[in-house]
Amino acid sequence: MRTSAEYRADMKKMKPNLYIGGEKVGRDDPRIQPGVNVMSVTFDLAQEPDWEGLITATSSLTHKEINRFNHLPQNPYDLMQKQKMIRLATQRVGGCIQRCMGHDAINALSICTKETDDKYGTEYHRRFMDFLRNYQEKDLTSACAQTDMKGDRTKRPSEQPDPDAYVHIVDVRDDGIVVRGAKISITIPAYADEIIVVPTRALKEEDKDYAVAFAIPADWDRVRLITRPVWVRDREVIKAPFTEYGVSDSVIVFDDTFIPKERVFMCKEWDFARRLALLFADSHRHSYSGCKPAISDILCGVTALVADANNISRVDHVRQKLSEFAGGGELAYAAGVASAIYGEKTSSGTFFPNAIYANVGRRLMGENIYHEFNILTEIAGGLSVTLPFEGDFYGEETKKDLEKYIVRNPKISPEDSHRIWRLVENVGASPMGDWYKIAGVHGGGSPIMETITLNIEYDYESKKNIAKYLAGIDKELDQSKDLGIKPTFGGSLLEADTPLEK
Ligand SMILES: Cc1cc2nc3c(=O)[nH]c(=O)nc-3n(C[C@H](O)[C@H](O)[C@H](O)COP(=O)(O)OP(=O)(O)OC[C@H]3O[C@@H](n4cnc5c(N)ncnc54)[C@H](O)[C@@H]3O)c2cc1C
Repeated sequence: MRTSAEYRADMKKMKPNLYIGGEKVGRDDPRIQPGVNVMSVTFDLAQEPDWEGLITATSSLTHKEINRFNHLPQNPYDLMQKQKMIRLATQRVGGCIQRCMGHDAINALSICTKETDDKYGTEYHRRFMDFLRNYQEKDLTSACAQTDMKGDRTKRPSEQPDPDAYVHIVDVRDDGIVVRGAKISITIPAYADEIIVVPTRALKEEDKDYAVAFAIPADWDRVRLITRPVWVRDREVIKAPFTEYGVSDSVIVFDDTFIPKERVFMCKEWDFARRLALLFADSHRHSYSGCKPAISDILCGVTALVADANNISRVDHVRQKLSEFAGGGELAYAAGVASAIYGEKTSSGTFFPNAIYANVGRRLMGENIYHEFNILTEIAGGLSVTLPFEGDFYGEETKKDLEKYIVRNPKISPEDSHRIWRLVENVGASPMGDWYKIAGVHGGGSPIMETITLNIEYDYESKKNIAKYLAGIDKELDQSKDLGIKPTFGGSLLEADTPLEK
């Protein structure tokens, strides 16, 4: 497995194709380093003995020890370990651990390429597994570029006035394909090794040029990454882990980009676009059942700490509000566990989470996120947006004033009081905090997308049958469907020891 130092060195070797604020910059630009720091943690944890078996796994392909972010889950235990790994790693970096995007993309492609080959006799699965073997051996990272620019949202890709509104194939050659278009809001391409592209929606035959999936190195020819980094206000004196980390999202422009044949995993099989889009989205929503509870953990912790700073921890309404974090975060986590247990072994061998549980957990957290920030705001008071700048806490004429007046709870020192309020500002009232609010709603698909998935997958008829039986319309109640959720419990769930609980 790579070390974080090797990962950082590899990033610096990449060709400059990043654009930030009108400048073309290299991977050493300080504005993307907070994101590089997050990715580095995923390599560092893999070197820690306590995390063995949690952030590491045995590859189903090479049988070697690899980073779990690059592992295809083989059973419910793998999915639960992934969920737990994401929750604990997210707590470490104070937010999005980011490497799950690539994890969810490889899961989706491992399944969809096999199913496409089974129907059409194509060779995508062999190509993808060759790609994945190298990806695992080199311990690579990837962004998953699914979201297209999309143009007029009421029109299908082939109906758009601008045909480039969705990424599409403009030429098919013997040695590969040429693609054009742009993907937006894509997290991590600025500091990932690879970009994996999948379709964003269901397609019809007339949209077949938009049915395309492939992978390319992130610094590939004729690919531009127009990047927006997000981090908290720099600090001079009171350094803290939360300020080390951040994120960057990019618009990825494909400017008649050539993709070699070996890296193409879907080429016009329009009837599999929906399947691939949903496989990525549902796997990602299962990953959210790890990271969103961690965001709740962080918000809960900051709220509890600022309640201490305000000396109101024992007050009834504060206790009641703190319990709401537990109510949301743990329910979503439990949905992820259920999703793992009731997952399904696909024909590719990859074990896939149950879509219903993955979607209800993700939707709950998407709907809750502003409420959780609101609890923090209510308990913290207004100081999070009116706190004087850090420099004033150390200014010759203002230091004494602020050291005296920042203390509300006499048991907490002036420096720790300042640290608490600075964290509340960083988490609750900063570009980074806003990123988490919007990501909480739209990342992995807007709540309406989860609703649509539920309406496709959920068995309303079996519920109606219960009512018909209770009303006396039907004499028999057919319960052969086992609650309407297919149980394919894969065994081996609790056999292995769970690291970090020793
Ligand atoms: C922080 C962050 C990180 C992200 N990272 C990634 C990433 O790494 N990879 C990736 O692929 N994507 C990523 N995304 C994109 C994310 O998946 C999308 O934001 C999400 O799917 C919503 O798409 P959209 O932003 O284009 O909004 P839209 O889909 O345009 O939604 C906007 C509104 O329009 C409505 N709407 C949409 N279509 C229709 C229609 N036909 N008729 C009526 N109403 C409609 C929706 O319901 C919604 O209310 C990220 C997003 C965020 C915020």
